[in-house]
Amino acid sequence: MNPIRIAIVGFGKIARDQHVPAIAATDGVTLAAVASRNASLADVPHFATIEQLLRDGAAIDAVALCTPPQVRRAQAAAALKAGKHVMLEKPPGASVSELDSLIAQAARAGRTLFATWHSRFAPAVEPARSWLAPRRISSVSISWKEDVRVWHPGQGWIWEPGGLGVFDPGINALSILTRILPQPLFVIAAELCFPANREAPIAAHLSMTDAGGLPITAEFDFRQTGPQSWDILIETDGGPLRLSRGGARLVAGVEVLVDAVEAEYRGLYRRFAELTATGASDVDLTPLRLVADAFMLGRRRIVAAFEE
Ligand code: NAP
Repeated sequence: MNPIRIAIVGFGKIARDQHVPAIAATDGVTLAAVASRNASLADVPHFATIEQLLRDGAAIDAVALCTPPQVRRAQAAAALKAGKHVMLEKPPGASVSELDSLIAQAARAGRTLFATWHSRFAPAVEPARSWLAPRRISSVSISWKEDVRVWHPGQGWIWEPGGLGVFDPGINALSILTRILPQPLFVIAAELCFPANREAPIAAHLSMTDAGGLPITAEFDFRQTGPQSWDILIETDGGPLRLSRGGARLVAGVEVLVDAVEAEYRGLYRRFAELTATGASDVDLTPLRLVADAFMLGRRRIVAAFEE
């Protein structure tokens, strides 16, 4: 079978760091074009915008949208209209309901819409799900704290409405949690810390639960210097389970079950290739709904202004 010819749209940090190497390392996909206002790649056809890419009839089957969430819906709609399969970076949109029309459009067109959650493809996530399945869980605490200056340098969009602020990484933890817990969860309270000069939170504390009353807390913070934490601790009747390094390491009690090198984006592209073979879609909005609920229920606290 011929490989799926993919155009990367928006050539920023994640396109460079992950999408280009993952496409190169994955069978069944090939990089066929780049649409970027500012960047190009040697030997890959370049277009300034997605409109130009689609209008000029580049030889592509699919687009991988690596732009900020605020502009992705319109780009996805244009690509589906042109008959292309669409891979969406996370979060899948700037609002929950804007996804409805895309899901319907993809179904009508018989094209794939893939809302990616890269953290779900971390090596310890499926083992954590299996380990938890037969056990009784008594509490969950998430600590997802990173230095925004290191991981999101110069990304003005992240501080704008729809950019999610600290929920941009925090939603990765929620994408893992909603995959590994056997029951659906929901937000009951939240505190959101907004820098005085920004439109999105720099830190957040969430209280969540499930129908059985499981206590779940999440601490998200963009102000972390020194050691960074991307950890989920789950207490169970079989002892504690710790998922750390963003889902690359899994320890039950003192036993290390998984300690692996991450290869999340190769997993995403394998899944995308599978989906496009039949034009099926994969869109799970659960993590985005939790974030939207946190904004809906959240108490707002104004904290020190954030300067780059
Ligand atoms: P980024 O470095 O700011 O890159 C985004 C790119 O999108 C920009 O370089 C720009 O590309 C394009 N763009 C920006 N504003 C635009 C606009 N108004 N209209 C059209 N294009 C625009 O951001 P990123 O870190 O790559 O993040 C992009 C997405 O990937 C986000 O949703 C993020 O959550 C997700 N993600 C990021 C990471 C990470 O570690 N950074 C990890 C996983 C997922 P051109 O200049 O090429 O047009």
